[in-house]
Amino acid sequence: MLYRLKESGYQAHLVGGGVRDLLLGREPKDLDIATDAHPEDVRRLFRNCRLIGRRFRLAHVMFGREVIEVATFRALQEPGGNNGEQHADEEGRLVRDNVYGSIEDDALRRDFTVNALYYNIADFSIIDFTSGMQDIEAGKLRLLGDPETRYREDPVRMLRAVRFATKLGFRIEPATEQPIRELAPLLGDIPPARLFDEMLKMFLGGSALDNFEMTRHYDLFRQLFPLTEKSLSHEENHFPLTLISRGLANTDSRVADGKPVTPAFLFAVFLWQPVRDMAARLEADGQATAQALQHAGSQIIAQQAAVMSTPRRFSLPMRDIWMLQLRLERKGGRRSLRVLGHPRFRAAYDFLLLRGEAGEVPQELCDWWTEFQEMHPEKREQEVTRPRPRKRRRRRPRRTADSGSGKA
Ligand code: ATP
Ligand code: MG
Repeated sequence: MLYRLKESGYQAHLVGGGVRDLLLGREPKDLDIATDAHPEDVRRLFRNCRLIGRRFRLAHVMFGREVIEVATFRALQEPGGNNGEQHADEEGRLVRDNVYGSIEDDALRRDFTVNALYYNIADFSIIDFTSGMQDIEAGKLRLLGDPETRYREDPVRMLRAVRFATKLGFRIEPATEQPIRELAPLLGDIPPARLFDEMLKMFLGGSALDNFEMTRHYDLFRQLFPLTEKSLSHEENHFPLTLISRGLANTDSRVADGKPVTPAFLFAVFLWQPVRDMAARLEADGQATAQALQHAGSQIIAQQAAVMSTPRRFSLPMRDIWMLQLRLERKGGRRSLRVLGHPRFRAAYDFLLLRGEAGEVPQELCDWWTEFQEMHPEKREQEVTRPRPRKRRRRRPRRTADSGSGKA
Protein backbone atom coordinates (compact mmCIF):
# COMPACT_ATOMS: atom_id res chain seq x y z
CA MET A 1 0.00 0.00 0.00
CA LEU A 2 2.81 2.35 0.91
CA TYR A 3 4.53 1.23 -2.27
CA ARG A 4 1.64 2.13 -4.53
CA LEU A 5 1.91 5.72 -3.29
CA LYS A 6 5.66 5.70 -3.72
CA GLU A 7 5.51 4.31 -7.23
CA SER A 8 3.09 7.04 -8.18
CA GLY A 9 5.66 9.61 -7.16
CA TYR A 10 4.32 10.48 -3.72
CA GLN A 11 6.00 10.31 -0.36
CA ALA A 12 4.66 7.69 2.00
CA HIS A 13 5.48 7.40 5.68
CA LEU A 14 4.22 5.39 8.57
CA VAL A 15 3.59 7.87 11.37
CA GLY A 16 2.29 8.38 14.87
CA GLY A 17 1.40 5.64 17.31
CA GLY A 18 2.29 2.90 14.82
CA VAL A 19 5.94 3.95 14.56
CA ARG A 20 6.15 4.66 18.28
CA ASP A 21 4.80 1.25 19.22
CA LEU A 22 6.98 -0.60 16.71
CA LEU A 23 10.08 1.17 18.05
CA LEU A 24 9.07 0.14 21.56
CA GLY A 25 8.54 -3.44 20.47
CA ARG A 26 4.79 -3.28 21.01
CA GLU A 27 2.08 -4.27 18.65
CA PRO A 28 0.58 -1.13 17.09
CA LYS A 29 -3.17 -0.74 17.50
CA ASP A 30 -3.54 0.73 14.05
CA LEU A 31 -1.37 2.06 11.28
CA ASP A 32 -1.47 5.62 10.05
CA ILE A 33 0.16 6.81 6.88
CA ALA A 34 1.17 10.36 6.07
CA THR A 35 1.69 11.43 2.49
CA ASP A 36 2.03 14.47 0.29
CA ALA A 37 -0.73 13.10 -1.91
CA HIS A 38 -4.06 14.89 -1.41
CA PRO A 39 -7.10 12.85 -0.37
CA GLU A 40 -8.50 12.99 -3.89
CA ASP A 41 -5.20 11.63 -5.24
CA VAL A 42 -5.32 8.80 -2.75
CA ARG A 43 -8.82 7.97 -3.83
CA ARG A 44 -7.73 7.88 -7.44
CA LEU A 45 -4.97 5.41 -6.57
CA PHE A 46 -7.03 3.06 -4.43
CA ARG A 47 -10.41 1.77 -5.38
CA ASN A 48 -11.13 0.48 -1.90
CA CYS A 49 -10.93 3.95 -0.43
CA ARG A 50 -13.36 6.27 1.33
CA LEU A 51 -12.86 9.90 2.18
CA ILE A 52 -14.03 10.72 5.68
CA GLY A 53 -13.75 13.37 8.35
CA ARG A 54 -15.32 16.60 9.36
CA ARG A 55 -12.47 18.23 11.21
CA PHE A 56 -9.79 16.55 9.14
CA ARG A 57 -10.22 15.14 5.68
CA LEU A 58 -8.77 11.67 5.63
CA ALA A 59 -8.69 8.74 3.29
CA HIS A 60 -9.54 5.32 4.67
CA VAL A 61 -8.13 2.54 2.57
CA MET A 62 -9.65 -0.86 3.24
CA PHE A 63 -7.52 -3.97 3.24
CA GLY A 64 -9.79 -6.86 3.91
CA ARG A 65 -10.86 -6.19 7.48
CA GLU A 66 -8.12 -3.67 8.14
CA VAL A 67 -8.55 0.03 7.63
CA ILE A 68 -5.45 2.09 7.03
CA GLU A 69 -5.74 5.79 7.57
CA VAL A 70 -3.99 7.93 5.00
CA ALA A 71 -3.62 11.60 5.82
CA THR A 72 -2.10 14.37 3.81
CA PHE A 73 0.69 16.37 5.49
CA ARG A 74 -0.89 19.23 7.34
CA ALA A 75 0.44 22.36 8.97
CA LEU A 76 -0.16 23.79 12.42
CA GLN A 77 -1.81 27.15 12.47
CA GLU A 78 0.36 30.20 13.04
CA PRO A 79 -1.10 32.15 15.95
CA GLY A 80 -2.56 35.31 14.45
CA GLY A 81 -1.67 34.09 11.00
CA ASN A 82 -3.93 35.10 8.16
CA ASN A 83 -4.22 31.62 6.84
CA GLY A 84 -7.83 31.48 5.74
CA GLU A 85 -8.37 27.80 6.50
CA GLN A 86 -7.37 27.71 10.14
CA HIS A 87 -9.30 29.09 13.02
CA ALA A 88 -8.92 29.17 16.73
CA ASP A 89 -11.68 30.32 19.03
CA GLU A 90 -11.35 32.80 21.92
CA GLU A 91 -9.85 30.14 24.18
CA GLY A 92 -7.15 29.40 21.64
CA ARG A 93 -8.79 26.15 20.68
CA LEU A 94 -8.38 24.90 17.14
CA VAL A 95 -11.71 24.64 15.44
CA ARG A 96 -10.46 23.85 11.97
CA ASP A 97 -7.24 22.26 11.03
CA ASN A 98 -7.10 21.35 7.42
CA VAL A 99 -4.23 23.23 5.88
CA TYR A 100 -1.80 21.20 3.87
CA GLY A 101 1.88 21.62 4.57
CA SER A 102 5.29 19.99 4.39
CA ILE A 103 6.26 16.89 6.30
CA GLU A 104 8.02 19.02 8.87
CA ASP A 105 4.87 21.13 9.35
CA ASP A 106 3.03 17.86 9.78
CA ALA A 107 5.43 16.73 12.49
CA LEU A 108 5.18 19.97 14.44
CA ARG A 109 1.38 20.00 14.66
CA ARG A 110 1.38 16.60 16.39
CA ASP A 111 1.06 16.28 20.13
CA PHE A 112 4.07 14.51 21.62
CA THR A 113 7.59 14.12 20.26
CA VAL A 114 7.25 10.35 20.44
CA ASN A 115 4.15 10.58 18.24
CA ALA A 116 5.91 12.67 15.60
CA LEU A 117 8.28 10.10 14.16
CA TYR A 118 8.06 9.08 10.50
CA TYR A 119 9.13 5.81 9.01
CA ASN A 120 10.03 6.49 5.42
CA ILE A 121 9.37 3.50 3.22
CA ALA A 122 11.53 4.90 0.40
CA ASP A 123 14.69 4.08 2.35
CA PHE A 124 13.40 2.51 5.59
CA SER A 125 14.74 5.40 7.65
CA ILE A 126 13.22 7.14 10.64
CA ILE A 127 12.69 10.85 10.18
CA ASP A 128 12.79 12.75 13.43
CA PHE A 129 12.26 16.52 13.49
CA THR A 130 11.64 16.78 17.21
CA SER A 131 14.13 14.57 19.08
CA GLY A 132 11.40 11.99 19.44
CA MET A 133 13.94 9.15 19.29
CA GLN A 134 15.76 10.52 22.30
CA ASP A 135 12.49 10.75 24.23
CA ILE A 136 11.54 7.21 23.26
CA GLU A 137 14.83 5.98 24.63
CA ALA A 138 14.51 8.07 27.80
CA GLY A 139 10.86 7.11 28.28
CA LYS A 140 9.67 10.72 28.27
CA LEU A 141 6.48 12.30 27.09
CA ARG A 142 7.19 15.77 25.83
CA LEU A 143 4.59 17.99 24.24
CA LEU A 144 5.77 19.76 21.10
CA GLY A 145 5.91 23.53 21.40
CA ASP A 146 4.73 25.56 24.35
CA PRO A 147 2.69 23.23 26.56
CA GLU A 148 0.12 25.75 27.72
CA THR A 149 -0.57 26.87 24.14
CA ARG A 150 -0.86 23.30 22.95
CA TYR A 151 -3.27 22.35 25.76
CA ARG A 152 -5.39 25.39 25.03
CA GLU A 153 -5.53 24.45 21.35
CA ASP A 154 -6.83 21.05 22.33
CA PRO A 155 -7.43 20.25 26.01
CA VAL A 156 -7.86 16.55 25.22
CA ARG A 157 -4.06 16.46 24.96
CA MET A 158 -4.01 16.51 28.78
CA LEU A 159 -5.90 13.23 28.82
CA ARG A 160 -3.65 11.86 26.11
CA ALA A 161 -0.58 12.73 28.20
CA VAL A 162 -1.90 10.57 31.02
CA ARG A 163 -3.01 7.80 28.72
CA PHE A 164 0.33 7.47 26.98
CA ALA A 165 2.25 7.79 30.25
CA THR A 166 0.43 4.81 31.74
CA LYS A 167 0.29 2.78 28.55
CA LEU A 168 3.96 3.16 27.70
CA GLY A 169 5.27 3.45 31.23
CA PHE A 170 6.71 6.88 30.35
CA ARG A 171 7.21 9.90 32.55
CA ILE A 172 5.54 13.17 31.63
CA GLU A 173 8.44 15.60 31.53
CA PRO A 174 8.13 18.58 33.91
CA ALA A 175 7.24 21.37 31.46
CA THR A 176 4.57 19.17 29.89
CA GLU A 177 3.23 18.19 33.28
CA GLN A 178 3.28 21.58 34.93
CA PRO A 179 0.19 23.30 33.42
CA ILE A 180 -2.15 20.31 33.56
CA ARG A 181 -3.78 20.77 36.93
CA GLU A 182 -4.51 24.41 36.29
CA LEU A 183 -5.82 23.90 32.76
CA ALA A 184 -7.89 20.80 33.56
CA PRO A 185 -11.17 22.79 33.62
CA LEU A 186 -10.73 23.49 29.89
CA LEU A 187 -12.00 19.96 29.35
CA GLY A 188 -15.40 21.35 30.27
CA ASP A 189 -15.65 22.74 26.73
CA ILE A 190 -14.99 19.44 25.00
CA PRO A 191 -18.10 18.03 23.31
CA PRO A 192 -19.64 15.13 25.30
CA ALA A 193 -19.21 12.71 22.40
CA ARG A 194 -15.47 13.30 22.18
CA LEU A 195 -15.05 12.96 25.94
CA PHE A 196 -16.91 9.68 25.77
CA ASP A 197 -14.49 8.39 23.12
CA GLU A 198 -11.49 9.44 25.19
CA MET A 199 -13.02 7.88 28.26
CA LEU A 200 -13.32 4.57 26.43
CA LYS A 201 -9.65 4.66 25.43
CA MET A 202 -8.74 5.58 28.96
CA PHE A 203 -10.69 2.89 30.80
CA LEU A 204 -11.05 0.04 28.33
CA GLY A 205 -7.48 0.00 27.07
CA GLY A 206 -5.97 -2.20 29.78
CA SER A 207 -4.59 0.52 32.09
CA ALA A 208 -7.83 1.66 33.67
CA LEU A 209 -6.63 1.62 37.26
CA ASP A 210 -3.45 3.57 36.49
CA ASN A 211 -5.40 6.06 34.42
CA PHE A 212 -7.95 6.50 37.19
CA GLU A 213 -5.23 7.22 39.71
CA MET A 214 -3.27 9.51 37.45
CA THR A 215 -6.27 11.49 36.22
CA ARG A 216 -7.24 12.02 39.84
CA HIS A 217 -3.71 13.10 40.63
CA TYR A 218 -3.90 15.85 37.98
CA ASP A 219 -7.48 16.73 38.84
CA LEU A 220 -8.59 15.63 35.38
CA PHE A 221 -10.89 12.90 36.64
CA ARG A 222 -13.30 15.49 38.01
CA GLN A 223 -13.81 16.72 34.45
CA LEU A 224 -14.83 13.26 33.28
CA PHE A 225 -16.92 12.09 36.23
CA PRO A 226 -17.70 15.10 38.41
CA LEU A 227 -20.34 13.28 40.46
CA THR A 228 -17.97 10.42 41.16
CA GLU A 229 -15.16 12.74 42.20
CA LYS A 230 -17.53 14.50 44.56
CA SER A 231 -18.64 11.27 46.16
CA LEU A 232 -15.03 10.19 46.56
CA SER A 233 -14.00 13.34 48.35
CA HIS A 234 -17.09 13.42 50.57
CA GLU A 235 -16.91 9.89 51.72
CA GLU A 236 -15.24 9.26 55.06
CA ASN A 237 -15.26 5.53 54.58
CA HIS A 238 -13.28 4.27 51.63
CA PHE A 239 -15.98 2.02 50.24
CA PRO A 240 -16.59 3.79 46.89
CA LEU A 241 -12.86 4.06 46.26
CA THR A 242 -12.41 0.36 46.90
CA LEU A 243 -15.35 -0.48 44.66
CA ILE A 244 -13.92 1.57 41.80
CA SER A 245 -10.34 0.38 42.24
CA ARG A 246 -11.38 -3.27 42.31
CA GLY A 247 -13.72 -2.73 39.38
CA LEU A 248 -10.99 -1.16 37.29
CA ALA A 249 -8.45 -3.80 38.26
CA ASN A 250 -10.95 -6.46 37.13
CA THR A 251 -11.50 -4.62 33.87
CA ASP A 252 -7.76 -4.50 33.27
CA SER A 253 -7.31 -8.20 33.83
CA ARG A 254 -10.23 -8.97 31.54
CA VAL A 255 -8.61 -6.86 28.83
CA ALA A 256 -5.30 -8.64 29.43
CA ASP A 257 -7.08 -11.98 29.03
CA GLY A 258 -8.79 -10.86 25.83
CA LYS A 259 -12.24 -11.05 27.45
CA PRO A 260 -14.95 -8.60 26.45
CA VAL A 261 -15.46 -5.49 28.55
CA THR A 262 -18.38 -3.12 28.42
CA PRO A 263 -18.55 0.58 29.18
CA ALA A 264 -21.91 -0.04 30.83
CA PHE A 265 -20.30 -1.92 33.68
CA LEU A 266 -17.66 0.76 34.06
CA PHE A 267 -20.27 3.50 34.22
CA ALA A 268 -22.28 1.46 36.67
CA VAL A 269 -19.23 1.24 38.92
CA PHE A 270 -18.26 4.91 38.64
CA LEU A 271 -21.75 6.21 39.26
CA TRP A 272 -22.92 3.78 41.92
CA GLN A 273 -22.06 5.94 44.92
CA PRO A 274 -23.74 9.06 43.50
CA VAL A 275 -26.79 6.91 42.72
CA ARG A 276 -26.86 5.42 46.21
CA ASP A 277 -26.53 8.83 47.82
CA MET A 278 -29.38 10.25 45.81
CA ALA A 279 -31.53 7.16 46.32
CA ALA A 280 -30.98 7.47 50.08
CA ARG A 281 -32.18 11.06 49.97
CA LEU A 282 -35.26 10.14 47.96
CA GLU A 283 -36.02 7.32 50.36
CA ALA A 284 -35.72 9.66 53.28
CA ASP A 285 -38.31 11.79 51.49
CA GLY A 286 -40.67 8.85 51.54
CA GLN A 287 -40.12 7.03 48.24
CA ALA A 288 -40.11 3.26 48.20
CA THR A 289 -36.66 1.67 47.88
CA ALA A 290 -37.02 0.44 44.31
CA GLN A 291 -38.61 3.62 43.13
CA ALA A 292 -35.94 5.74 44.78
CA LEU A 293 -33.20 3.73 43.13
CA GLN A 294 -34.93 3.97 39.77
CA HIS A 295 -35.30 7.74 39.99
CA ALA A 296 -31.81 8.27 41.31
CA GLY A 297 -30.42 6.18 38.46
CA SER A 298 -32.23 8.26 35.86
CA GLN A 299 -31.16 11.54 37.35
CA ILE A 300 -27.53 10.61 37.77
CA ILE A 301 -27.39 9.27 34.21
CA ALA A 302 -28.88 12.52 32.94
CA GLN A 303 -26.37 14.61 34.88
CA GLN A 304 -23.46 12.53 33.65
CA ALA A 305 -24.74 12.74 30.06
CA ALA A 306 -24.36 16.52 30.19
CA VAL A 307 -20.60 15.96 30.56
CA MET A 308 -20.13 12.87 28.48
CA SER A 309 -22.40 11.12 25.99
CA THR A 310 -23.98 8.06 27.50
CA PRO A 311 -25.57 6.11 24.64
CA ARG A 312 -28.75 4.26 25.48
CA ARG A 313 -27.19 0.94 24.65
CA PHE A 314 -25.03 1.55 27.70
CA SER A 315 -27.38 3.43 29.98
CA LEU A 316 -30.06 0.72 29.81
CA PRO A 317 -27.78 -2.09 30.99
CA MET A 318 -26.39 0.23 33.69
CA ARG A 319 -29.85 0.69 35.12
CA ASP A 320 -30.46 -3.05 35.00
CA ILE A 321 -27.25 -3.71 36.88
CA TRP A 322 -28.28 -1.26 39.58
CA MET A 323 -31.88 -2.40 39.85
CA LEU A 324 -30.88 -6.05 39.99
CA GLN A 325 -28.82 -5.31 43.10
CA LEU A 326 -32.07 -5.04 45.05
CA ARG A 327 -33.11 -8.46 43.91
CA LEU A 328 -29.69 -9.95 44.58
CA GLU A 329 -29.66 -8.62 48.09
CA ARG A 330 -32.39 -11.14 48.90
CA LYS A 331 -31.49 -14.73 48.47
CA GLY A 332 -33.63 -17.81 48.41
CA GLY A 333 -37.11 -18.40 47.08
CA ARG A 334 -38.40 -18.82 43.57
CA ARG A 335 -37.44 -15.28 42.70
CA SER A 336 -33.78 -16.27 42.88
CA LEU A 337 -34.35 -18.56 39.93
CA ARG A 338 -35.94 -15.76 37.97
CA VAL A 339 -33.02 -13.41 38.66
CA LEU A 340 -30.67 -16.10 37.44
CA GLY A 341 -32.50 -16.08 34.10
CA HIS A 342 -32.26 -12.31 33.68
CA PRO A 343 -30.14 -11.39 30.63
CA ARG A 344 -28.10 -9.05 32.81
CA PHE A 345 -27.68 -11.46 35.70
CA ARG A 346 -24.00 -12.08 35.05
CA ALA A 347 -23.09 -8.40 35.02
CA ALA A 348 -25.21 -7.72 38.07
CA TYR A 349 -23.63 -10.64 39.89
CA ASP A 350 -20.12 -9.41 39.04
CA PHE A 351 -21.20 -6.05 40.37
CA LEU A 352 -22.46 -7.66 43.56
CA LEU A 353 -19.10 -9.35 44.04
CA LEU A 354 -17.37 -5.97 43.79
CA ARG A 355 -19.72 -4.60 46.42
CA GLY A 356 -18.81 -7.57 48.54
CA GLU A 357 -15.11 -6.91 48.12
CA ALA A 358 -15.67 -3.30 49.02
CA GLY A 359 -17.51 -4.36 52.17
CA GLU A 360 -20.87 -2.95 51.11
CA VAL A 361 -22.70 -6.29 51.23
CA PRO A 362 -21.87 -9.38 53.31
CA GLN A 363 -19.45 -11.80 51.72
CA GLU A 364 -21.85 -14.55 52.70
CA LEU A 365 -24.43 -13.17 50.27
CA CYS A 366 -21.93 -13.20 47.40
CA ASP A 367 -20.94 -16.76 48.24
CA TRP A 368 -24.55 -17.85 48.26
CA TRP A 369 -25.04 -16.56 44.71
CA THR A 370 -21.79 -18.08 43.58
CA GLU A 371 -22.84 -21.49 44.84
CA PHE A 372 -26.40 -21.10 43.71
CA GLN A 373 -25.51 -20.57 40.07
CA GLU A 374 -22.97 -23.38 40.08
CA MET A 375 -25.49 -25.84 41.50
CA HIS A 376 -27.00 -28.57 39.43
CA PRO A 377 -30.41 -27.30 38.23
CA GLU A 378 -32.23 -29.97 40.26
CA LYS A 379 -30.41 -29.10 43.40
CA ARG A 380 -31.17 -25.48 42.69
CA GLU A 381 -34.87 -26.33 42.51
CA GLN A 382 -34.60 -27.99 45.89
CA GLU A 383 -32.76 -25.04 47.32
CA VAL A 384 -35.53 -22.64 46.41
CA THR A 385 -38.51 -24.90 47.11
CA ARG A 386 -37.45 -25.80 50.61
CA PRO A 387 -39.86 -24.29 53.06
CA ARG A 388 -38.29 -21.00 53.91
CA PRO A 389 -39.97 -18.65 56.33
CA ARG A 390 -39.20 -18.75 60.03
CA LYS A 391 -36.96 -21.79 59.70
CA ARG A 392 -34.48 -19.59 57.92
CA ARG A 393 -32.67 -18.69 61.07
CA ARG A 394 -31.93 -22.33 61.81
CA ARG A 395 -30.86 -23.08 58.31
CA ARG A 396 -28.45 -20.23 57.86
CA PRO A 397 -25.51 -21.52 59.95
CA ARG A 398 -25.32 -24.58 57.76
CA ARG A 399 -25.03 -22.57 54.57
CA THR A 400 -22.45 -20.26 56.03
CA ALA A 401 -20.38 -23.16 57.19
CA ASP A 402 -20.49 -24.70 53.71
CA SER A 403 -19.52 -21.57 51.84
CA GLY A 404 -16.99 -20.63 54.48
CA SER A 405 -15.09 -23.88 54.25
CA GLY A 406 -15.32 -23.79 50.47
CA LYS A 407 -13.46 -20.53 50.32
CA ALA A 408 -10.92 -21.16 53.04
P1 ATP B 1 -3.07 4.88 20.02
O1 ATP B 1 -2.14 3.77 20.27
O2 ATP B 1 -3.91 5.22 21.18
O3 ATP B 1 -3.84 4.78 18.74
P2 ATP B 1 -1.83 7.04 18.63
O4 ATP B 1 -0.56 7.81 18.91
O5 ATP B 1 -1.89 6.26 17.37
O6 ATP B 1 -2.09 6.14 19.88
P3 ATP B 1 -4.15 8.37 17.66
O7 ATP B 1 -5.23 9.04 18.43
O8 ATP B 1 -4.45 7.16 16.87
O9 ATP B 1 -2.99 8.09 18.70
O10 ATP B 1 -3.52 9.50 16.73
C1 ATP B 1 -2.55 9.22 15.74
C2 ATP B 1 -1.52 10.35 15.70
O11 ATP B 1 -2.14 11.60 15.38
C3 ATP B 1 -0.81 10.58 17.01
O12 ATP B 1 0.30 9.73 17.18
C4 ATP B 1 -0.40 12.04 16.89
O13 ATP B 1 0.77 12.16 16.11
C5 ATP B 1 -1.55 12.66 16.12
N1 ATP B 1 -2.58 13.20 17.03
C6 ATP B 1 -3.68 12.55 17.49
N2 ATP B 1 -4.42 13.33 18.28
C7 ATP B 1 -3.78 14.51 18.35
C8 ATP B 1 -4.05 15.74 19.03
N3 ATP B 1 -5.12 15.89 19.80
N4 ATP B 1 -3.17 16.75 18.85
C9 ATP B 1 -2.09 16.60 18.06
N5 ATP B 1 -1.78 15.48 17.42
C10 ATP B 1 -2.60 14.44 17.54
MG1 MG C 1 -3.54 5.24 16.63
